Amino acid sequence: MSETTETVRCLIIGSGPAGYTAAIYAARADLKPVMYQGMQPGGQLTITTEVENFPGYPKGITGPEMMEEFKQQAERFGTQVRFGVVTSVDFSKRPFTVVADDGNTLKAETVIITTGASAKWMGLESEKKFMGMGVSGCATCDGFFYRGQEVAIVGGGDTAAEEATYLAKLCKKVYMIHRRNELRASKAMQHKVFSTPNIEMVWDSVPEEVLGDDSGVTGIRVRNVKIGGTIDIQVSGFFVAIGHKPNTGIFEGQLELDEMNYIRTAPGSTKTSVDGVFAAGDVQDHYYRQAVTAAGTGCMAAIEAERFLTS
Ligand code: NAP
Repeated sequence: MSETTETVRCLIIGSGPAGYTAAIYAARADLKPVMYQGMQPGGQLTITTEVENFPGYPKGITGPEMMEEFKQQAERFGTQVRFGVVTSVDFSKRPFTVVADDGNTLKAETVIITTGASAKWMGLESEKKFMGMGVSGCATCDGFFYRGQEVAIVGGGDTAAEEATYLAKLCKKVYMIHRRNELRASKAMQHKVFSTPNIEMVWDSVPEEVLGDDSGVTGIRVRNVKIGGTIDIQVSGFFVAIGHKPNTGIFEGQLELDEMNYIRTAPGSTKTSVDGVFAAGDVQDHYYRQAVTAAGTGCMAAIEAERFLTS
């Protein structure tokens, strides 16, 4: 592979809803955007099942199909979408230098970062096997499919507490599995969990295996870490809520990150600590984490990049 250097007006790193929306707007503003899709083209939505809460899809759509449509829309206006991973960036002077694993070194006048966040998983083989078949990393996205059923969620932080109470409104019963005997979640969230009658705490326990058959998840085998031994809990859905990790490794030392390593952006904007570098979607948002909010900030980033270039 021969190494080349090219100059681009707007480089987009990452390809979820934020990245593709930024690409649509940047392409229509004639910024001739180049996008590197990253390790997981399409982002987190490609591992969810049906998406029913994105406006404009009244019948729902699968995550991978929706991301394919976003991609086609971005390409229709001239975005160059490349299958590849950005391996290093130098934001110390403009144009910014960006190196990708396809052998290209790019000089970018503006950069929009939409590398997202990755849900942390338990790391069980069976969890991988039933991903999208009863195993989910997002209750807001997938909870609806388990209406009236019994489900389990693992985690003891604010996300797990919030998702457990959300699921409890839809499901017959929610088992909340936590590895200690007290929750990490805020007192207010703890109060909500403990006052919801159909949430049952499974303390001092960790999921050891996701049980299932051809139809999907049928239960969870849980080990009690204090007294030993396992129990099987019959559920049709298993939600993992043990935290997210923003994909910001290559930006450390280049941009200001917050205490959880998310990119810090100016309030009400996608501007980062470096002029000309913008961040949109989950890489700068640990709070909403929705496709539609990511798309909204992607649009903001493209508009801000265009204004930056013309100012
Ligand atoms: P978090 O606070 O890091 O909590 C992760 C939870 O998962 C912890 O209870 C942890 O157990 C457990 N865990 C981690 N690894 C595990 C493993 N391998 N096996 C079993 N359990 C494991 O993550 P989060 O709940 O996603 O929250 C992230 C941040 O966003 C927090 O600052 C949170 O306050 C904030 N947040 C706020 C809101 C809100 O204000 N409404 C909503 C969501 C998130 P231990 O407790 O034993 O460590």
